Amino acid sequence: MRVKIKSHVIKPLLDKEYPTVSHGRGVYLYDTEGKAYIDGCSGAITANIGHGVQSVIDAMKEQAQKVSFTYRSQFTSDAAEELATKLASWAPGDLDYVFFVNSGSEATETAMKIAIQYWQEQGRTGKNKILSRWMSYHGITLGALSMSGHILRRKRFIPLLEEFPSVEPPYCYRCPFGSTYPSCDLLCANQLEQAIHRIGADNIAAFIAEPIIGASAGAVTPPPYYYQRIKEICERYEILFIADEVMTGNGRTGKPFGIDHWGVVPDLMALGKGMSAGYTPMAATIASKRIIDVIAAGSKSIMSGHTFSANPQSAAVSLAVMKYIEDHRLIGKVEERGQQLIAGLQALMQKYEIIGDVRGKGLLCGMEFVKDRTTKEPFPFHLRVTERLIEKAMNNGLLIYSASGGIDGQAGDAILVAPPFVITEEEINELLFILDRSLGELALELE
Ligand code: PLP
Repeated sequence: MRVKIKSHVIKPLLDKEYPTVSHGRGVYLYDTEGKAYIDGCSGAITANIGHGVQSVIDAMKEQAQKVSFTYRSQFTSDAAEELATKLASWAPGDLDYVFFVNSGSEATETAMKIAIQYWQEQGRTGKNKILSRWMSYHGITLGALSMSGHILRRKRFIPLLEEFPSVEPPYCYRCPFGSTYPSCDLLCANQLEQAIHRIGADNIAAFIAEPIIGASAGAVTPPPYYYQRIKEICERYEILFIADEVMTGNGRTGKPFGIDHWGVVPDLMALGKGMSAGYTPMAATIASKRIIDVIAAGSKSIMSGHTFSANPQSAAVSLAVMKYIEDHRLIGKVEERGQQLIAGLQALMQKYEIIGDVRGKGLLCGMEFVKDRTTKEPFPFHLRVTERLIEKAMNNGLLIYSASGGIDGQAGDAILVAPPFVITEEEINELLFILDRSLGELALELE
């Protein structure tokens, strides 16, 4: 084998050295130098049941011994059938049908296409725009990025993107309308109605939102009744509501799906990340029976799909992950550990002036950093506050996730703290101890 350069892998930062992982056990990852890292963000909010779970490894092996790959146009499999049944049993309302894909971006893009097709099948061919929010992230492929209001990730590709983001986020810490809940009467939700008037309901297929805003802002949690209002507006104007549960789904927030905190039933849902807890790439779009009935009575086929969609190997793994969550009652534990985690983060806020806000639900917690807590002035972008904190934490043996999606007056520096559901009380204390130390080091430098 001819090795031409030191590493042939294109990594996120081309000028940075990354440690090489050796193995993972529970909430810890180990590199090849023997250093341990507590996985305080489940990788990318993905390794929901921790590393090295034996029942998942066994399921993987058992399925591989039967068959790993079949093509969805030729076969279904027991694993895919059982997984879809289980997902439908976790999902609210009539979200009964599952379309398997391989990443969150594919899941949101498939939801977009199903929504457009649903209206086309009824002769309403003009309804093909998707509305979304600024300060949102729905994926990196061009369709998903078109729906995303993540300025940093959009910017380079603007000429190729649709102008889908059209409403402000429900960002109470920095209300885009300078208002306060509840006297605001949910101006941010009402703005959807204005956008519909401007664009025309006859041109709009769906509205998409992350129940809790993750990658672009750090667990920004909408106020009570926000999604009830959104759903009401969508129904009034015959617009489908897509919940992007890629990060918030599968138990992460202490309920099966993030939207369950508002008791709203979406028309379509996108899942990914925690669905397979990272043991294999797997994602899905769940559609309501009503939508699939219309397509079944019309063209009879959803115009989407990927080579690896519904492959039995990934399905068996995801099914084992969901069974593990059920058998160990992990969603209840998320709620309990989440309370401990958020209390610990709030205690750190008492100690460090640079923490402007702490928020989130279950084990999806966020922290936003500010130069001045009173005025909420963000740190200048060039100070790289989030990245420096992440580097310090990693040096100290803790992994945390950047949620710093904002420039141009949007949200500033933020992180997500989202450990695996299996984290113990002592391990949360250890996580908080290392975060405290890392914040201390950063605060000193920023003085
Ligand atoms: N949707 C949300 C809410 C996400 O957080 C992400 C990834 O962070 C995606 C979609 C895209 O998922 P993937 O990176 O698997 O394509």
